[in-house]
Amino acid sequence: MRTDETFRTERGSEQRLQGIGVSAGIAIGAAYIGDRGELPVSESRIDEAAIEHERGRFAEAVSASIKQLRKLKTRAMALPGSAADEIGSLLDAHLAMLANSRLIRGVHRRIGRARINTERAIQIEIDEIGKTFSEMDDAYLAARIDDIRVVGARLIRNLLKKPYVAYSSLSGGAIILAEEVTPADTALMDPRRIGGFAAEFGGHDGHTAIMARALGLPAVLGIPGLLDRAQAEVPVIVDGTEGIVILEPAAETLRAYKAQQQEVARERRYLNRLRRLPAVTKDGVEIRLEANVELPVEVEQALDNGAVGLGLVRTEFLYMNREDLPGEDEQYSFFAALVSGMEGRPVTLRTFDIGGDKLPEALAGYAASDIANPALGLRAIRLSLKDRRLLDVQLAAMLRAANSGPVRIMLPMISTPDEIRRTREAMEQVARRLKRRGVRVPKELPPLGAMIEVPAAALAADALAAEADFFAIGTNDLVQYTLAADRTDETVAHLYNPLHPAVLRLIQFAVEAATRRGIPISICGEIAGDPRYAALLLGLGLRELSMSPRNIPRVKQRIRSLDMVAAGRRTRAIMDQSDSERIAALLDDFNATAEPRLSIGGPKS
Ligand code: PEP
Ligand code: MG
Repeated sequence: MRTDETFRTERGSEQRLQGIGVSAGIAIGAAYIGDRGELPVSESRIDEAAIEHERGRFAEAVSASIKQLRKLKTRAMALPGSAADEIGSLLDAHLAMLANSRLIRGVHRRIGRARINTERAIQIEIDEIGKTFSEMDDAYLAARIDDIRVVGARLIRNLLKKPYVAYSSLSGGAIILAEEVTPADTALMDPRRIGGFAAEFGGHDGHTAIMARALGLPAVLGIPGLLDRAQAEVPVIVDGTEGIVILEPAAETLRAYKAQQQEVARERRYLNRLRRLPAVTKDGVEIRLEANVELPVEVEQALDNGAVGLGLVRTEFLYMNREDLPGEDEQYSFFAALVSGMEGRPVTLRTFDIGGDKLPEALAGYAASDIANPALGLRAIRLSLKDRRLLDVQLAAMLRAANSGPVRIMLPMISTPDEIRRTREAMEQVARRLKRRGVRVPKELPPLGAMIEVPAAALAADALAAEADFFAIGTNDLVQYTLAADRTDETVAHLYNPLHPAVLRLIQFAVEAATRRGIPISICGEIAGDPRYAALLLGLGLRELSMSPRNIPRVKQRIRSLDMVAAGRRTRAIMDQSDSERIAALLDDFNATAEPRLSIGGPKS
């Protein structure tokens, strides 16, 4: 870890960049530039017949790189002042290098002449260009070679389809600054060794953001031009609460942020005292607060924060950062560990939600990653039902884990009752098959539930309630699909609003349908973990909230300060509104009347 001495910088070099704060907290550390360096590449010989294939790969990498650079440029245009021009012209220079440049022509030729793989041809070509430039002894050209190297690294990354950094090997509280951090990258981050991260792409409720919150890593996404301003090793502050990244902070700024860091730690200790107290409103309505988890280590966090169950286990992370698929035994061990770890508390296992912003390498052959609308494509239950081998492995592992404690099985992205019926048939078949193999399966099969995260599911919730044993509302997707605003796209983040009346009505529809049918309903989207929404969600009739473990104490604090009758009254007033701003004002005004500090001594304590 760097010392305070190392951090002392000139006040003048401090740069503040605004983005979207996606994971609260403050991290201070040395910058690690995530994905601009060169990848290690090995050389392989190709035979004549493979030349065209190799050139095809190169053409694909060039076109992917052009797409990325154009996207970056659109975002850079939104930067204030001269930054838009500066970064814009740099990106233009990179784009020009991908047109009919010496680099492109040279690589194309070299693949055929030297009969080597594209990655290596790019490296050799860049070295050759570098030599020519250095012989010219021209400072301008010397600077251009750096740009060519950056473009070459982008091409190679696209060819290898791999993130550059082994994030798992970083240490010393490094702050990762990258163009994009994928959910799979985030899963590799060890919060004991990484301070936090920031990236040019990404929105508040994408899976990268959710992972960051789960790991407690302060993070800011959606900062155009970040990498063009940052340098490796310089001190950086990531303020995930306010969505600010400060490069080379002045000594005074550092002092202020360190004090704030201590304040956050103090507050956390204070909230921890709530752990054993029930989540009950002032007028005695008890609420179940459960945890959303994806990694085994989070079970401990869930229990530490007082979760009464796991309301959402995302299983897609089992498929990430590997080239093969996880088999039944491996999945069983993971599920069984979660179920036993929760010591009798209910665990809701969700079949994988792969596709959209999460498409692991191992499943690349099962669903296309380059389609125009991956979020509307073969994602989640659609993929599971398309290839029953994928579904059956998960169902078998889940049924076996149900021998270790109470398990529910949940299906993501349900849009028709038929998807539930077909999965139930699959579950019954898998159970029979397991019994034939002599494997024990609970006599009563686990409840099978549907996520309500597609507007159609909420609107037709009555029909789904006839097939499902329970519902869980996934507002992360419900908001994105209702408002047609990609949850990972910072350029439409201003439209992504859970308080839009259309979203609230869909939640209300789902709750009413579940109540009519008498099936349990919970909510596990990110808004469940934000105390700002608690009064409204309770007012809409929800009594089970599932969230990132670290959010439980704060939401519990809010619930314990709430009067259910007043929350219901305010919710009715909110549901009469048609304007999101008015709704936000009514909610914030109601929240402002809450007790400023938690009351440790409350009802039933
Ligand atoms: C949701 O969409 O709200 C949800 C909980 O699922 P995920 O974030 O995994 O898509
Ligand atoms: Mg979802």
